[in-house]
Amino acid sequence: MKTLEYDVAVIGAGAAGLATAKVTSAAGYRTLVIDREDFSGGVLLQCIHNGFGLHHFKQELTGPEYAGKLESEARESGADFQLSTTVIDLKPQPDGRKLLIALSPSEGVFQIYARSVMLAMGCRERNRGNIGIPGTRPAGVYTAGLAQRLINMSGLLPGKSAVIVGSGDIGLIMARRLSWSGIPVKAVVEIRPFPSGLNRNIVQCLNDFDIPLYLSHTVSRINGADRVESVEISPLVNGVPDETAAFTIECDTVLLSVGLIPENELSKKCGVAINATTGGPLTDAWRMTGVDGVFAGGNVLHVHDLADFASDEAALAGMRICDYLAGRRPGREDAVTTGANLRYVTPNRYIPGEDIQFFMRSMVVDDNAVLLAELNGVEIMRKKLRNVAPPEMISVNIDGKLTQSGGELRFSLLTGGDK
Ligand SMILES: Cc1cc2nc3c(=O)[nH]c(=O)nc-3n(C[C@H](O)[C@H](O)[C@H](O)COP(=O)(O)OP(=O)(O)OC[C@H]3O[C@@H](n4cnc5c(N)ncnc54)[C@H](O)[C@@H]3O)c2cc1C
Repeated sequence: MKTLEYDVAVIGAGAAGLATAKVTSAAGYRTLVIDREDFSGGVLLQCIHNGFGLHHFKQELTGPEYAGKLESEARESGADFQLSTTVIDLKPQPDGRKLLIALSPSEGVFQIYARSVMLAMGCRERNRGNIGIPGTRPAGVYTAGLAQRLINMSGLLPGKSAVIVGSGDIGLIMARRLSWSGIPVKAVVEIRPFPSGLNRNIVQCLNDFDIPLYLSHTVSRINGADRVESVEISPLVNGVPDETAAFTIECDTVLLSVGLIPENELSKKCGVAINATTGGPLTDAWRMTGVDGVFAGGNVLHVHDLADFASDEAALAGMRICDYLAGRRPGREDAVTTGANLRYVTPNRYIPGEDIQFFMRSMVVDDNAVLLAELNGVEIMRKKLRNVAPPEMISVNIDGKLTQSGGELRFSLLTGGDK
């Protein structure tokens, strides 16, 4: 069986994996990037709109342009690529290396030994089965990302008129994309009382096209024999669909934009513990999982709203992989905990005295909130935040001088009267 040996194996050639590969190969570590697709870039390739790269490259790019720049940087720094290759198993070895079992149509099954591994497998979309919409089972129900891929990469239109379930960013961007393609979007239906996507996407993708957004509503039934014919939409009263107030919209296509699930089957196989809130691996301050030498970043770690943040986070993990390969270890690490109004904070540990960037998500909507950081119950940082909402990821840098004494670092979001 073919056997490869590398210092770093990066699983996934998306915004995260490419950013890691650039860092580790530029530092002189033999790096292999593996992706099951026959192209690199991951989900970026189907995001043909602009808005990428403002943080990472200080330049506004389309998704494919952004992916192209990341790939060029990784290749120029010396990374090898193994595309059309799926990693089907990942096993820590007694000598500390990791064994990856890979599969490709041209080479069959082969193995890769790596001193360290970057998990960068992204995420997958929740589908109809995950949310259990009642009704018949006709053709014409797609996840929004699949429809995006069909239109933008295969040149195929998914239908003639659509209703979108969920107001996540992918659904909003697809509302605009379908409108541009001559497919009327008759409604976007959101179960929550506020949109799930970024405010700028509500304005640019719905308001500009006069597409109605039904908040606190749900699709209570999909109708159709062979193909979708209509959907029934009901308002929610005390969280329950009120079918007495239901109305019907005719359409032949339903797009689901109802959340993403980090792709961690491989991580679990290798013994990585998963954070129940994010669906991603629990990591230390270096973004190293509980399995020595296995790191994680991008959507596999927690779902990002911006590709730039996925790349930035994965580049940081890449720097730590270099430290790891040079024999350094994080040393003392203390706990990071999640206080009021925050759903999660990542990473889950920090190193006292070291600068660190955290990502977190709010559970509430507030246009004038305060992010509070406390060390052992004593305030060390307070930052005003405008327009916090669950879809908008919060990123904050903590200066190592503030955490020198160590102890529990707790983040909370103060809203309304709490401030
Ligand atoms: C459908 C969709 C649309 C989006 N639109 C936008 C947008 O408009 N603007 C924006 O800023 N952000 C957008 N995002 C978010 C942003 O693009 C992502 O946060 C970012 O690109 C994720 O990068 P990633 O590397 O973590 O994952 P991905 O790009 O998903 O890359 C993961 C890669 O891993 C590969 N892989 C997975 N498992 C294996 C395996 N076992 N073996 C080999 N390869 C494997 C996959 O093939 C894939 O190429 C979107 C996300 C999605 C899902």
